[in-house]
Amino acid sequence: MTAPTYDLGKLHGGLRLLGHKQASTTQSILDVPVPSQLVLPIEQHVGEPAQPVVGVGDYVLKGQLIAEPDGELGAPVHASSSGTVVAIERWPVSRRHGDKAPCIVIECDGKDAAVPDPATTDYQSQAPADLLLRILDGGIVGLGGAVFPTAQKLMQARTCDTEYLILNGVECEPYISCDDVLMRERAPEILTGAQVLMHALQINDCFVVVESDKPEAIRRLGEALAELGDDRIVLKQVPTIYPSGGEDQLVQLVTNREVPSGGLPTDVGCIVQNVGTAAAVHDWILRSEPLISRVTTVTGDGVVSPVNIRARIGTPIEEVIQLAGGYTEHVKHLIIGGPMTGKSVTTDEVPLVKASNCVLAISDTAPKGDELACIRCGDCAAVCPVQLLPQQLFWYACADDEKKLREFGLIDCIECGCCDLVCPSHIPLTADFRIAKGRIRELADEKSRAERARQRFEARNQRLEKEQEEREAELARQKDSARSAGPAAIAEILKRKQQEKKDDSG
Ligand code: SF4
Ligand code: SF4
Repeated sequence: MTAPTYDLGKLHGGLRLLGHKQASTTQSILDVPVPSQLVLPIEQHVGEPAQPVVGVGDYVLKGQLIAEPDGELGAPVHASSSGTVVAIERWPVSRRHGDKAPCIVIECDGKDAAVPDPATTDYQSQAPADLLLRILDGGIVGLGGAVFPTAQKLMQARTCDTEYLILNGVECEPYISCDDVLMRERAPEILTGAQVLMHALQINDCFVVVESDKPEAIRRLGEALAELGDDRIVLKQVPTIYPSGGEDQLVQLVTNREVPSGGLPTDVGCIVQNVGTAAAVHDWILRSEPLISRVTTVTGDGVVSPVNIRARIGTPIEEVIQLAGGYTEHVKHLIIGGPMTGKSVTTDEVPLVKASNCVLAISDTAPKGDELACIRCGDCAAVCPVQLLPQQLFWYACADDEKKLREFGLIDCIECGCCDLVCPSHIPLTADFRIAKGRIRELADEKSRAERARQRFEARNQRLEKEQEEREAELARQKDSARSAGPAAIAEILKRKQQEKKDDSG
Protein backbone atom coordinates (compact mmCIF):
# COMPACT_ATOMS: atom_id res chain seq x y z
CA MET A 1 0.00 0.00 0.00
CA THR A 2 1.37 3.42 -0.93
CA ALA A 3 0.44 6.31 1.28
CA PRO A 4 -1.18 9.29 -0.40
CA THR A 5 0.66 12.57 -0.57
CA TYR A 6 -1.35 15.38 0.95
CA ASP A 7 -1.38 19.09 0.32
CA LEU A 8 1.70 19.91 2.31
CA GLY A 9 2.81 23.21 3.77
CA LYS A 10 5.91 24.70 2.22
CA LEU A 11 9.31 24.38 3.86
CA HIS A 12 11.52 27.42 3.42
CA GLY A 13 15.04 26.72 2.20
CA GLY A 14 16.65 23.41 3.04
CA LEU A 15 18.91 21.28 0.86
CA ARG A 16 18.71 18.05 -1.12
CA LEU A 17 21.68 16.09 0.19
CA LEU A 18 23.15 12.74 -0.82
CA GLY A 19 21.62 10.19 1.54
CA HIS A 20 24.50 7.67 1.97
CA LYS A 21 21.93 5.34 3.57
CA GLN A 22 21.98 2.43 1.18
CA ALA A 23 24.95 0.64 2.78
CA SER A 24 23.38 0.42 6.25
CA THR A 25 19.90 -0.66 5.13
CA THR A 26 20.69 -3.81 3.17
CA GLN A 27 20.32 -6.11 6.17
CA SER A 28 18.08 -6.47 9.22
CA ILE A 29 18.83 -4.90 12.58
CA LEU A 30 21.61 -6.84 14.37
CA ASP A 31 21.41 -7.42 18.12
CA VAL A 32 24.59 -6.55 20.01
CA PRO A 33 25.41 -9.18 22.68
CA VAL A 34 25.49 -8.18 26.35
CA PRO A 35 28.85 -6.40 26.79
CA SER A 36 31.20 -7.22 29.66
CA GLN A 37 30.71 -3.73 31.02
CA LEU A 38 27.98 -1.11 30.77
CA VAL A 39 28.63 2.58 31.34
CA LEU A 40 25.41 4.50 32.05
CA PRO A 41 25.61 8.30 32.27
CA ILE A 42 23.14 9.74 34.77
CA GLU A 43 22.50 12.66 32.41
CA GLN A 44 21.10 11.40 29.12
CA HIS A 45 18.28 13.86 28.67
CA VAL A 46 17.46 17.55 28.61
CA GLY A 47 17.05 18.64 32.26
CA GLU A 48 18.61 17.82 35.59
CA PRO A 49 20.84 14.71 35.87
CA ALA A 50 19.23 11.72 37.58
CA GLN A 51 20.42 10.81 41.09
CA PRO A 52 21.94 7.34 41.64
CA VAL A 53 19.92 5.05 43.93
CA VAL A 54 22.49 2.26 43.88
CA GLY A 55 25.99 2.09 45.34
CA VAL A 56 29.25 0.42 44.42
CA GLY A 57 28.96 -3.31 45.13
CA ASP A 58 25.19 -3.50 44.58
CA TYR A 59 23.87 -6.29 42.33
CA VAL A 60 21.33 -5.02 39.81
CA LEU A 61 18.87 -6.70 37.47
CA LYS A 62 18.00 -5.80 33.88
CA GLY A 63 15.32 -3.10 33.98
CA GLN A 64 16.05 -2.10 37.58
CA LEU A 65 15.99 1.61 38.45
CA ILE A 66 19.54 2.77 39.15
CA ALA A 67 19.10 6.55 39.07
CA GLU A 68 15.91 8.44 39.80
CA PRO A 69 14.78 11.71 38.25
CA ASP A 70 15.62 14.94 39.98
CA GLY A 71 13.75 18.17 39.27
CA GLU A 72 10.87 18.93 36.96
CA LEU A 73 12.67 17.83 33.80
CA GLY A 74 14.17 14.61 35.05
CA ALA A 75 14.17 11.10 33.61
CA PRO A 76 15.16 7.87 35.37
CA VAL A 77 17.97 5.56 34.26
CA HIS A 78 17.64 1.76 34.39
CA ALA A 79 20.20 -1.04 34.31
CA SER A 80 20.40 -2.43 30.78
CA SER A 81 21.53 -5.87 31.97
CA SER A 82 22.27 -7.71 35.22
CA GLY A 83 25.54 -7.41 37.09
CA THR A 84 27.39 -5.57 39.82
CA VAL A 85 27.90 -1.84 40.13
CA VAL A 86 31.68 -1.46 40.18
CA ALA A 87 32.01 2.31 40.02
CA ILE A 88 30.14 5.59 39.98
CA GLU A 89 32.63 7.92 38.39
CA ARG A 90 33.29 10.40 35.62
CA TRP A 91 33.71 8.79 32.21
CA PRO A 92 34.20 10.11 28.65
CA VAL A 93 30.83 10.84 27.05
CA SER A 94 29.69 12.04 23.66
CA ARG A 95 28.90 15.58 24.65
CA ARG A 96 29.62 18.71 22.69
CA HIS A 97 33.04 19.33 24.19
CA GLY A 98 33.99 15.68 24.45
CA ASP A 99 34.34 15.90 28.21
CA LYS A 100 33.52 13.49 31.01
CA ALA A 101 30.31 13.06 33.00
CA PRO A 102 29.22 11.00 36.03
CA CYS A 103 28.34 7.42 35.03
CA ILE A 104 27.22 4.24 36.79
CA VAL A 105 29.51 1.41 35.67
CA ILE A 106 28.08 -2.13 35.79
CA GLU A 107 30.20 -5.26 35.41
CA CYS A 108 27.76 -7.57 33.62
CA ASP A 109 27.42 -11.21 34.73
CA GLY A 110 26.13 -12.34 31.30
CA LYS A 111 22.93 -13.79 32.78
CA ASP A 112 20.84 -10.83 31.62
CA ALA A 113 18.52 -11.57 34.57
CA ALA A 114 15.54 -9.20 34.51
CA VAL A 115 13.35 -7.64 37.19
CA PRO A 116 10.84 -10.40 38.09
CA ASP A 117 7.17 -10.18 37.09
CA PRO A 118 7.18 -6.68 35.68
CA ALA A 119 3.72 -5.07 35.64
CA THR A 120 2.20 -4.38 32.25
CA THR A 121 -0.32 -1.62 31.80
CA ASP A 122 -3.83 -1.93 30.38
CA TYR A 123 -3.47 1.60 29.07
CA GLN A 124 -7.03 1.91 27.75
CA SER A 125 -8.50 1.56 31.24
CA GLN A 126 -5.99 3.99 32.77
CA ALA A 127 -6.68 7.63 33.45
CA PRO A 128 -4.47 9.78 31.16
CA ALA A 129 -2.76 11.42 34.15
CA ASP A 130 -1.81 7.99 35.55
CA LEU A 131 -0.58 6.88 32.15
CA LEU A 132 1.67 9.96 31.94
CA LEU A 133 3.20 9.10 35.31
CA ARG A 134 3.73 5.54 34.14
CA ILE A 135 5.51 6.82 31.00
CA LEU A 136 7.74 8.94 33.25
CA ASP A 137 8.79 5.79 35.15
CA GLY A 138 9.99 4.15 31.92
CA GLY A 139 12.86 6.61 31.45
CA ILE A 140 11.57 7.43 27.97
CA VAL A 141 13.03 10.46 26.23
CA GLY A 142 12.77 11.75 22.67
CA LEU A 143 14.88 9.40 20.55
CA GLY A 144 15.13 11.70 17.54
CA GLY A 145 18.10 13.48 19.07
CA ALA A 146 16.48 16.08 21.32
CA VAL A 147 16.20 13.66 24.30
CA PHE A 148 13.50 15.77 25.95
CA PRO A 149 11.77 13.67 28.65
CA THR A 150 8.66 12.29 26.93
CA ALA A 151 6.27 12.35 29.90
CA GLN A 152 6.95 16.03 30.62
CA LYS A 153 6.50 16.91 26.95
CA LEU A 154 3.15 15.13 26.95
CA MET A 155 2.14 16.80 30.22
CA GLN A 156 2.93 20.21 28.71
CA ALA A 157 0.87 19.34 25.63
CA ARG A 158 -2.05 18.32 27.87
CA THR A 159 -2.16 21.85 29.27
CA CYS A 160 -2.57 23.31 25.76
CA ASP A 161 -5.25 22.81 23.13
CA THR A 162 -3.24 20.13 21.36
CA GLU A 163 -5.04 18.67 18.34
CA TYR A 164 -2.44 16.67 16.44
CA LEU A 165 0.13 14.08 17.38
CA ILE A 166 2.78 14.03 14.65
CA LEU A 167 4.99 10.94 14.59
CA ASN A 168 8.30 11.90 13.05
CA GLY A 169 9.66 9.28 10.65
CA VAL A 170 11.46 11.93 8.61
CA GLU A 171 15.04 10.92 9.03
CA CYS A 172 16.49 13.59 6.83
CA GLU A 173 20.14 13.76 7.90
CA PRO A 174 22.56 11.84 5.65
CA TYR A 175 23.92 8.44 6.79
CA ILE A 176 21.32 7.93 9.58
CA SER A 177 18.86 5.10 8.88
CA CYS A 178 17.86 3.75 12.33
CA ASP A 179 14.30 5.09 12.08
CA ASP A 180 13.93 3.75 8.54
CA VAL A 181 14.80 0.18 9.59
CA LEU A 182 12.73 0.51 12.76
CA MET A 183 9.67 1.47 10.66
CA ARG A 184 10.34 -1.49 8.36
CA GLU A 185 10.71 -3.98 11.20
CA ARG A 186 8.44 -2.66 13.95
CA ALA A 187 5.62 -0.78 12.22
CA PRO A 188 2.82 -2.40 14.33
CA GLU A 189 4.57 -1.49 17.59
CA ILE A 190 5.10 2.11 16.43
CA LEU A 191 1.40 2.45 15.63
CA THR A 192 0.34 0.93 18.96
CA GLY A 193 2.73 3.37 20.64
CA ALA A 194 0.89 6.16 18.77
CA GLN A 195 -2.42 4.87 20.17
CA VAL A 196 -0.99 4.91 23.71
CA LEU A 197 0.25 8.47 23.19
CA MET A 198 -3.14 9.55 21.82
CA HIS A 199 -4.86 8.09 24.88
CA ALA A 200 -2.40 9.88 27.20
CA LEU A 201 -3.02 13.13 25.31
CA GLN A 202 -6.76 12.53 24.86
CA ILE A 203 -6.60 13.49 21.20
CA ASN A 204 -7.92 11.74 18.10
CA ASP A 205 -5.68 12.81 15.25
CA CYS A 206 -2.27 11.44 14.47
CA PHE A 207 -0.07 11.83 11.39
CA VAL A 208 2.77 9.41 10.82
CA VAL A 209 5.14 11.28 8.53
CA VAL A 210 7.77 9.60 6.39
CA GLU A 211 10.03 10.89 3.61
CA SER A 212 9.33 9.68 0.11
CA ASP A 213 12.79 8.04 -0.16
CA LYS A 214 11.71 5.29 2.28
CA PRO A 215 9.26 3.23 0.20
CA GLU A 216 9.76 0.04 2.24
CA ALA A 217 9.01 1.80 5.53
CA ILE A 218 5.92 3.41 3.95
CA ARG A 219 4.76 0.01 2.67
CA ARG A 220 5.17 -1.68 6.08
CA LEU A 221 3.47 1.16 7.92
CA GLY A 222 0.63 1.12 5.38
CA GLU A 223 0.12 -2.64 5.90
CA ALA A 224 0.25 -2.33 9.68
CA LEU A 225 -2.21 0.55 9.58
CA ALA A 226 -4.63 -1.42 7.38
CA GLU A 227 -4.39 -4.30 9.87
CA LEU A 228 -4.96 -2.02 12.84
CA GLY A 229 -7.96 -0.29 11.24
CA ASP A 230 -7.58 2.88 13.28
CA ASP A 231 -8.75 5.73 11.06
CA ARG A 232 -7.54 8.31 13.55
CA ILE A 233 -4.01 7.63 12.27
CA VAL A 234 -3.03 8.93 8.82
CA LEU A 235 0.18 8.20 6.96
CA LYS A 236 1.80 11.12 5.15
CA GLN A 237 4.74 11.32 2.77
CA VAL A 238 6.91 14.39 2.55
CA PRO A 239 9.63 15.23 0.03
CA THR A 240 13.21 14.34 0.94
CA ILE A 241 14.67 17.69 1.90
CA TYR A 242 17.05 18.39 4.77
CA PRO A 243 16.06 19.46 7.50
CA SER A 244 12.35 18.69 7.09
CA GLY A 245 12.59 16.42 10.17
CA GLY A 246 13.12 19.41 12.48
CA GLU A 247 10.07 19.74 14.76
CA ASP A 248 8.98 23.18 13.64
CA GLN A 249 9.70 22.38 9.98
CA LEU A 250 7.65 19.20 10.19
CA VAL A 251 4.70 21.01 11.76
CA GLN A 252 4.85 23.56 8.95
CA LEU A 253 5.05 20.84 6.30
CA VAL A 254 2.20 18.76 7.66
CA THR A 255 -0.25 21.35 8.96
CA ASN A 256 0.89 24.57 7.26
CA ARG A 257 0.99 26.16 10.71
CA GLU A 258 4.02 28.22 11.66
CA VAL A 259 5.48 27.74 15.12
CA PRO A 260 6.11 31.27 16.47
CA SER A 261 9.63 32.49 17.19
CA GLY A 262 10.77 31.11 20.54
CA GLY A 263 7.57 29.04 20.72
CA LEU A 264 6.69 25.36 20.70
CA PRO A 265 4.63 23.16 18.35
CA THR A 266 1.96 23.11 21.05
CA ASP A 267 1.49 26.85 20.40
CA VAL A 268 -0.11 25.80 17.12
CA GLY A 269 -1.89 22.70 18.43
CA CYS A 270 0.74 20.05 17.64
CA ILE A 271 3.06 17.72 19.49
CA VAL A 272 5.86 15.89 17.66
CA GLN A 273 7.27 12.54 18.78
CA ASN A 274 9.88 10.43 17.03
CA VAL A 275 8.79 7.01 15.72
CA GLY A 276 11.48 5.42 17.93
CA THR A 277 9.95 7.13 20.96
CA ALA A 278 6.54 5.67 20.05
CA ALA A 279 8.10 2.17 19.87
CA ALA A 280 9.76 2.77 23.25
CA VAL A 281 6.39 3.80 24.73
CA HIS A 282 4.89 0.58 23.33
CA ASP A 283 7.70 -1.52 24.86
CA TRP A 284 7.31 0.06 28.28
CA ILE A 285 3.53 0.19 28.52
CA LEU A 286 2.72 -3.15 26.90
CA ARG A 287 5.87 -5.15 27.71
CA SER A 288 7.20 -3.36 30.79
CA GLU A 289 10.61 -2.89 29.25
CA PRO A 290 11.97 0.52 30.19
CA LEU A 291 14.21 2.39 27.78
CA ILE A 292 17.33 0.23 28.08
CA SER A 293 18.19 -0.31 24.42
CA ARG A 294 17.89 1.48 21.12
CA VAL A 295 18.53 1.05 17.39
CA THR A 296 21.62 2.89 16.17
CA THR A 297 23.15 3.22 12.71
CA VAL A 298 26.86 2.34 12.57
CA THR A 299 28.12 3.60 9.27
CA GLY A 300 30.57 5.61 7.18
CA ASP A 301 33.56 4.59 5.11
CA GLY A 302 35.51 4.16 8.34
CA VAL A 303 33.75 0.84 9.14
CA VAL A 304 33.88 -2.35 7.11
CA SER A 305 30.14 -3.23 6.96
CA PRO A 306 27.71 -0.43 7.76
CA VAL A 307 24.72 -1.78 9.67
CA ASN A 308 21.91 -0.93 12.07
CA ILE A 309 22.28 -2.48 15.49
CA ARG A 310 20.08 -2.81 18.56
CA ALA A 311 22.32 -2.31 21.57
CA ARG A 312 21.85 -1.83 25.27
CA ILE A 313 22.20 1.75 26.51
CA GLY A 314 25.66 1.97 28.08
CA THR A 315 27.40 -0.34 25.57
CA PRO A 316 30.84 1.07 24.71
CA ILE A 317 30.96 2.35 21.13
CA GLU A 318 34.02 0.18 20.43
CA GLU A 319 31.79 -2.90 20.79
CA VAL A 320 29.17 -1.70 18.33
CA ILE A 321 31.95 -0.89 15.86
CA GLN A 322 32.92 -4.58 15.99
CA LEU A 323 29.45 -5.57 14.78
CA ALA A 324 30.03 -3.36 11.76
CA GLY A 325 33.15 -5.40 10.94
CA GLY A 326 35.53 -3.06 12.75
CA TYR A 327 37.33 0.01 11.46
CA THR A 328 38.74 0.32 7.97
CA GLU A 329 42.41 1.06 7.66
CA HIS A 330 42.18 4.77 7.14
CA VAL A 331 39.51 5.80 9.67
CA LYS A 332 40.21 9.28 10.97
CA HIS A 333 37.08 10.70 12.59
CA LEU A 334 34.39 9.31 14.87
CA ILE A 335 31.13 11.24 15.14
CA ILE A 336 28.16 10.44 17.36
CA GLY A 337 25.13 11.54 15.33
CA GLY A 338 25.02 12.58 11.70
CA PRO A 339 27.51 14.62 9.66
CA MET A 340 25.42 17.81 9.98
CA THR A 341 24.50 17.87 13.67
CA GLY A 342 26.64 15.14 15.28
CA LYS A 343 29.42 15.58 17.80
CA SER A 344 33.01 14.43 17.21
CA VAL A 345 34.53 12.22 19.87
CA THR A 346 38.18 11.38 20.36
CA THR A 347 37.72 7.95 21.91
CA ASP A 348 35.44 4.95 21.27
CA GLU A 349 35.31 4.29 25.03
CA VAL A 350 32.26 6.58 25.11
CA PRO A 351 29.05 4.67 25.77
CA LEU A 352 25.99 4.49 23.57
CA VAL A 353 23.30 6.67 25.20
CA LYS A 354 19.59 7.26 24.62
CA ALA A 355 20.41 10.05 22.14
CA SER A 356 22.84 7.98 20.03
CA ASN A 357 21.04 7.55 16.72
CA CYS A 358 24.22 7.11 14.70
CA VAL A 359 27.90 6.25 15.05
CA LEU A 360 29.64 7.67 12.02
CA ALA A 361 33.23 6.63 11.31
CA ILE A 362 34.81 8.42 8.38
CA SER A 363 38.19 8.19 6.77
CA ASP A 364 38.41 11.88 6.00
CA THR A 365 36.39 15.03 5.68
CA ALA A 366 36.40 17.02 2.46
CA PRO A 367 38.88 19.90 2.68
CA LYS A 368 36.87 23.02 3.36
CA GLY A 369 39.26 25.67 2.13
CA ASP A 370 40.46 28.72 4.01
CA GLU A 371 37.90 30.97 5.62
CA LEU A 372 37.42 34.14 3.60
CA ALA A 373 35.51 37.35 4.17
CA CYS A 374 31.73 37.32 3.66
CA ILE A 375 30.89 38.47 0.14
CA ARG A 376 27.22 39.04 1.05
CA CYS A 377 26.00 36.65 -1.62
CA GLY A 378 22.91 35.78 0.44
CA ASP A 379 23.12 32.02 -0.24
CA CYS A 380 23.03 31.26 3.50
CA ALA A 381 19.74 33.12 3.92
CA ALA A 382 18.24 31.37 0.90
CA VAL A 383 18.75 27.91 2.43
CA CYS A 384 17.99 28.72 6.08
CA PRO A 385 14.84 26.75 7.01
CA VAL A 386 14.10 29.19 9.84
CA GLN A 387 14.31 32.20 7.52
CA LEU A 388 17.12 33.79 9.50
CA LEU A 389 19.83 36.03 8.07
CA PRO A 390 22.97 34.03 8.87
CA GLN A 391 25.34 36.66 7.46
CA GLN A 392 23.90 39.26 9.85
CA LEU A 393 23.97 36.82 12.75
CA PHE A 394 27.60 36.05 11.99
CA TRP A 395 28.42 39.75 12.13
CA TYR A 396 26.68 40.17 15.49
CA ALA A 397 28.20 36.95 16.86
CA CYS A 398 31.68 38.30 16.03
CA ALA A 399 30.76 41.55 17.77
CA ASP A 400 29.29 39.62 20.73
CA ASP A 401 26.18 41.79 20.43
CA GLU A 402 23.65 39.85 22.48
CA LYS A 403 20.84 42.35 21.89
CA LYS A 404 21.13 42.16 18.11
CA LEU A 405 21.57 38.37 18.15
CA ARG A 406 18.28 38.11 20.01
CA GLU A 407 16.62 40.65 17.73
CA PHE A 408 17.71 38.67 14.66
CA GLY A 409 16.38 35.41 16.10
CA LEU A 410 19.57 33.48 16.87
CA ILE A 411 17.68 31.55 19.52
CA ASP A 412 15.51 30.02 16.74
CA CYS A 413 18.55 28.66 14.87
CA ILE A 414 18.25 24.86 14.81
CA GLU A 415 21.98 24.42 14.06
CA CYS A 416 21.18 22.46 10.92
CA GLY A 417 24.40 23.44 9.13
CA CYS A 418 22.74 24.33 5.81
CA CYS A 419 24.28 27.80 5.79
CA ASP A 420 27.77 26.36 6.30
CA LEU A 421 27.39 23.98 3.40
CA VAL A 422 26.57 26.66 0.86
CA CYS A 423 28.83 29.45 2.08
CA PRO A 424 31.41 30.14 -0.67
CA SER A 425 33.63 31.87 1.90
CA HIS A 426 33.85 28.70 4.02
CA ILE A 427 32.74 30.55 7.16
CA PRO A 428 31.95 28.11 10.01
CA LEU A 429 28.65 29.82 10.67
CA THR A 430 26.93 27.06 12.64
CA ALA A 431 29.87 26.59 15.02
CA ASP A 432 29.89 30.34 15.68
CA PHE A 433 26.12 30.32 16.26
CA ARG A 434 26.42 27.39 18.65
CA ILE A 435 29.00 29.26 20.72
CA ALA A 436 26.95 32.49 20.63
CA LYS A 437 23.81 30.59 21.73
CA GLY A 438 25.79 29.05 24.59
CA ARG A 439 26.88 32.53 25.71
CA ILE A 440 23.30 33.84 25.56
CA ARG A 441 22.09 30.85 27.59
CA GLU A 442 24.84 31.44 30.17
CA LEU A 443 23.83 35.10 30.47
CA ALA A 444 20.17 34.10 30.83
CA ASP A 445 21.14 31.55 33.51
CA GLU A 446 23.15 34.19 35.36
CA LYS A 447 20.23 36.60 35.19
CA SER A 448 17.77 34.01 36.44
CA ARG A 449 20.18 33.00 39.25
CA ALA A 450 20.46 36.68 40.27
CA GLU A 451 16.67 37.04 40.09
CA ARG A 452 16.16 33.93 42.24
CA ALA A 453 18.69 35.27 44.80
CA ARG A 454 16.83 38.62 44.85
CA GLN A 455 13.49 36.87 45.38
CA ARG A 456 14.96 34.74 48.18
CA PHE A 457 16.38 37.88 49.87
CA GLU A 458 13.04 39.70 49.64
CA ALA A 459 11.12 36.66 50.87
CA ARG A 460 13.46 36.39 53.86
CA ASN A 461 13.01 40.08 54.72
CA GLN A 462 9.24 39.74 54.45
CA ARG A 463 9.32 36.67 56.67
CA LEU A 464 11.44 38.47 59.32
CA GLU A 465 9.15 41.51 59.20
CA LYS A 466 6.09 39.30 59.59
CA GLU A 467 7.65 37.44 62.53
CA GLN A 468 8.49 40.77 64.18
CA GLU A 469 4.92 42.00 63.68
CA GLU A 470 3.55 38.77 65.14
CA ARG A 471 5.85 39.05 68.16
CA GLU A 472 4.75 42.63 68.79
CA ALA A 473 1.09 41.69 68.42
CA GLU A 474 1.56 38.81 70.84
CA LEU A 475 3.28 41.08 73.36
CA ALA A 476 0.45 43.62 73.09
CA ARG A 477 -2.08 40.83 73.56
CA GLN A 478 -0.24 39.55 76.64
CA LYS A 479 0.00 43.04 78.09
CA ASP A 480 -3.74 43.50 77.66
CA SER A 481 -4.54 40.21 79.35
CA ALA A 482 -1.99 40.94 82.12
CA ARG A 483 -3.60 44.28 82.81
CA SER A 484 -6.81 42.46 83.53
CA ALA A 485 -5.03 39.54 85.31
CA GLY A 486 -3.05 41.53 87.95
CA PRO A 487 0.59 42.05 89.15
CA ALA A 488 1.61 38.35 89.29
CA ALA A 489 0.87 37.87 85.60
CA ILE A 490 2.75 41.12 84.75
CA ALA A 491 5.79 39.81 86.62
CA GLU A 492 5.58 36.54 84.66
CA ILE A 493 5.46 38.41 81.30
CA LEU A 494 8.46 40.59 82.26
CA LYS A 495 10.39 37.46 83.24
CA ARG A 496 9.59 35.82 79.89
CA LYS A 497 10.54 38.98 78.00
CA GLN A 498 13.93 39.15 79.76
CA GLN A 499 14.55 35.50 78.94
CA GLU A 500 13.72 36.17 75.24
CA LYS A 501 16.21 39.07 75.17
CA LYS A 502 18.87 36.84 76.69
CA ASP A 503 18.15 34.15 74.08
CA ASP A 504 18.34 36.70 71.26
CA SER A 505 21.67 38.13 72.42
CA GLY A 506 23.03 34.59 72.96
S1 SF4 B 1 26.84 32.47 2.30
FE1 SF4 B 1 28.75 33.10 3.30
S2 SF4 B 1 29.55 34.65 1.95
FE2 SF4 B 1 27.43 34.39 1.33
S3 SF4 B 1 26.30 35.93 2.57
FE3 SF4 B 1 26.31 34.06 3.75
S4 SF4 B 1 28.06 34.24 5.11
FE4 SF4 B 1 28.36 35.72 3.47
S1 SF4 C 1 22.39 26.64 11.09
FE1 SF4 C 1 20.89 28.12 11.85
S2 SF4 C 1 21.26 29.96 10.63
FE2 SF4 C 1 22.25 28.24 9.56
S3 SF4 C 1 20.75 27.54 8.10
FE3 SF4 C 1 20.48 26.30 9.93
S4 SF4 C 1 18.92 27.35 11.15
FE4 SF4 C 1 19.64 28.80 9.57
